[in-house]
Amino acid sequence: MTVCHVAGYSANVAKRPDISPERDASVQPQAQAFDALPGFWSLLGRGLTRRCAWCGDRRAYFKGWFRREDSCQACHHGWRRGDAAFELGATTANIILTFLTISISILVAAIATWPDVPTTLLIIIIGLMAVLGPGLWYPVSFSLWQAVDLFMRRPDDDELAGHGDADL
Ligand SMILES: [Zn+2]
Repeated sequence: MTVCHVAGYSANVAKRPDISPERDASVQPQAQAFDALPGFWSLLGRGLTRRCAWCGDRRAYFKGWFRREDSCQACHHGWRRGDAAFELGATTANIILTFLTISISILVAAIATWPDVPTTLLIIIIGLMAVLGPGLWYPVSFSLWQAVDLFMRRPDDDELAGHGDADL
């Protein structure tokens, strides 16, 4: 009985597909080691231009407008950094970016057309911005929050060396 069970188990193992590191998504490449990160304004610039805050790569961790990898395609550092609630920060960044866009648009339109501000047209345009803004800012809200997160939770030596994520 035991022999049959072991033999069956061995047969199952033999039938398993060959899992090479390239095919196995759970095997992440070693993250790039950094001596230090740039200062606040450089991080902010990378975040606002949808680049990886760690290395500045333009592809960063995006596979499409709304799709992301777990880590940067160039430096392999994860954007989440062990923070299960990272999306809350990215959502906050998205709301701030959308509200700033709306506020600046209202201000510019009011100044440009004063005293005959086209209120109805402005409401329609602002309404469209409110609906489309979160989608348009979606990737930037992630890269921006990654930059802010890296500034607020500075990486320790282990994380800078590419060994694991930060502690919360
Ligand atoms: Zn990177």
